[in-house]
Amino acid sequence: MSRGGVWTDVVGQDAAVEIFAAAVEGAVAMTHAWLVTGPPGSGRSVAARAFAAALQCPNGGCGECQACRTVLGGTHAGVEVLSTELLSIGVKETRELVRRAALSPAGGRWQIIVAEDADRLTDQAANALLKAIEEPPPRTVWILCAPATEDVLPTIRSRCRSVHLVTPSADAVAEVLTRRDGVPPEDARIAALASQGHIGRAKRLATDPDARARRADVLALPQNLHDVGSCLRAADRLIKAVQADVAAASEVADVAERDALKAAMGIATGAKQPPGAAAALKELEKRQKARATRSQRDGLDRALVDLVAFYRDVLAVQVGSDVALVNSAEARAVHAVAAAGSPEATLRRIEAVLACRTALETNAAPQLAVEAMTLALR
Ligand SMILES: [Zn+2]
Repeated sequence: MSRGGVWTDVVGQDAAVEIFAAAVEGAVAMTHAWLVTGPPGSGRSVAARAFAAALQCPNGGCGECQACRTVLGGTHAGVEVLSTELLSIGVKETRELVRRAALSPAGGRWQIIVAEDADRLTDQAANALLKAIEEPPPRTVWILCAPATEDVLPTIRSRCRSVHLVTPSADAVAEVLTRRDGVPPEDARIAALASQGHIGRAKRLATDPDARARRADVLALPQNLHDVGSCLRAADRLIKAVQADVAAASEVADVAERDALKAAMGIATGAKQPPGAAAALKELEKRQKARATRSQRDGLDRALVDLVAFYRDVLAVQVGSDVALVNSAEARAVHAVAAAGSPEATLRRIEAVLACRTALETNAAPQLAVEAMTLALR
């Protein structure tokens, strides 16, 4: 049963929406700290913002009033969103957030803080947050988001009400691409399957030809592994493709941020820099570098997830299963690889890709980890 209003774009999460709506409507007592978990791309931050809007809306989340529109647009005074692309959230930022959380709601019904990456709180930052959610001011609501409950310190998660988002179905993802983004239904279906329930990725695949081309490059890898030399070259190409992908996405943002900071500090070209300007620019560069590192890790992981899905399709063909292929657009390559090997070899290859993911999670050097993988895939 889908609810409209602010919940319209919370895709394929009926159970979670029922829990949020019950709290908004007062059917259950309000909880001051929430932990929204769900796999990447399941829409954690979209769900958190919708919940915040419903709480601020005098009509319980109509999606049309001033409160709904400003919360969803990110300009409501009573909703702070801590969104970070950094590797970790420090104690300084968290203390500042805790201070603002203690203010009484300005005009709004609640003072709401959404922390989109609660899994990236440093231990020190988490402890600063803990004090705040242990004794929350009466009109304050914390909405923490993380991939899984285990990603958040036990002391924090034990004080939060947990809401778990599921991986949305391919049909649900395709529907939102068509309705919200105007993607033709057949393209939407292919992108939804290929993204494996990652809404943002599905949208990029459906609307950005470059993203499709880069994914095709990744999926060409299994057919380009003949000898040691070609395996090492394939590893190199995969890493470079991910780097190019990340660079394309972050360059624009980096320059815009630097310009905005310079403008804020009144640095005109050729003028003398005010005191502290150099330090502030340096700090910004440090943050941008940390963000690039994180994006590259995420990009490489996404490529590996695509590879696992490719070999799963190969396995499905080899054992004669009739499930829908994730890579329906690459069916020819899937069948070629399936015909050239055995199910046992495919399982071994899936294990090799998963081992590479694990190695990267534990901070192995990407080049070495990917080379070990391509050699094992041969
Ligand atoms: Zn409203």
